[in-house]
Amino acid sequence: CGTTSLLPMTPKKPQQWLQVVGHAGLSHFPFASQRVLFWFKKYISVACFLSSLVSTGSFHVGDYGTLLKRFCEGEQQCYLRLMEDTLKPFVPAYHGVVQRDEQDYNMMDNLLTHFNTPAVMDCKMGSRTYLERELLLAKERPQPRNDMYEKMVAVDPEAPTVQERTQQAVLKTGFYYNAVTCLFPVQKSNEECHTNFKRTKSRDQVMAAFNNFVESNTHIVWGYLRRLKELRQVLEESVFFRTHEVRHLDLLFIYWSGSSLLFLHDWKGRTGVWMIDFGKTAALPAHLSLDHRTPWVEGNREDGYLWGLDNLIDILSNMLPL
Ligand code: ATP
Ligand code: MG
Ligand code: MG
Repeated sequence: CGTTSLLPMTPKKPQQWLQVVGHAGLSHFPFASQRVLFWFKKYISVACFLSSLVSTGSFHVGDYGTLLKRFCEGEQQCYLRLMEDTLKPFVPAYHGVVQRDEQDYNMMDNLLTHFNTPAVMDCKMGSRTYLERELLLAKERPQPRNDMYEKMVAVDPEAPTVQERTQQAVLKTGFYYNAVTCLFPVQKSNEECHTNFKRTKSRDQVMAAFNNFVESNTHIVWGYLRRLKELRQVLEESVFFRTHEVRHLDLLFIYWSGSSLLFLHDWKGRTGVWMIDFGKTAALPAHLSLDHRTPWVEGNREDGYLWGLDNLIDILSNMLPL
């Protein structure tokens, strides 16, 4: 579900264009391959991809400050449940399905509507880098991947083991266990999208990246921190969150998917954080529930979302004066 598109920021301001960045899917591989991946082993992994001006018609601006996203049934189911959940204030309001040129779209609030030329950051958290279904496949047919090896070395030349170095390849099953992922396509107001977070690995570097995003404005940091703490409290109680697996990376290095946090602030000091993109979020079997903090081991389906959020909150707290 979802791709990339260019669309007007709000219906009221037809001159302004917002770049909506999403995964382009395998059929748009040349675009997807432009993405740059990097990670933090201990705290937060950051990845971001080039926001090409690819218009695939997956997003449109709807009437009255709404956004239309190409229909995906799984995402619709999530939004319908979210509208009944305590998480409702933390996701865009959902308004049902509409049709345009014979294509169905999920209609939701355009979160940018209340901001004035906002700075935008799309951030994915979690500790699992691929679905357990993919792990099973990779185990059944273990194939050393040279492409992954090259990407791994480009990010961190020290990362491969001696054996991996000899083979010039890595197994998907041996890669990225328990990394916390966090995706940051950062777009500052009136600036191009920042994409080069390749070497942003340590906690200090993440802090520096955030600091750059908020331009050292502690008022903005306070706003984000307050909102993230509220979100954490609600997530810990949410039935939806407990009963859903928030998936992260579909095919490692090929395309990213999964729910993310959208950070928005503007020069007036307004801030907001929302959970978006539920195309890959799935309900768990009835007998299962997740706490999203327990470290992932094969089979437990934990995704480390709250662990990532704890780290983010800690990082932002440390950006404020004592
Ligand atoms: P991917 O799966 O690759 O992350 P996608 O095609 O599923 O992408 P989304 O992640 O839902 O698309 O959205 C892509 C971008 O569009 C977001 O990073 C955000 O900048 C913007 N966007 C999405 N939903 C909204 C919204 N409700 N209001 C404002 N902007 C939005
Ligand atoms: Mg998506
Ligand atoms: Mg997304």
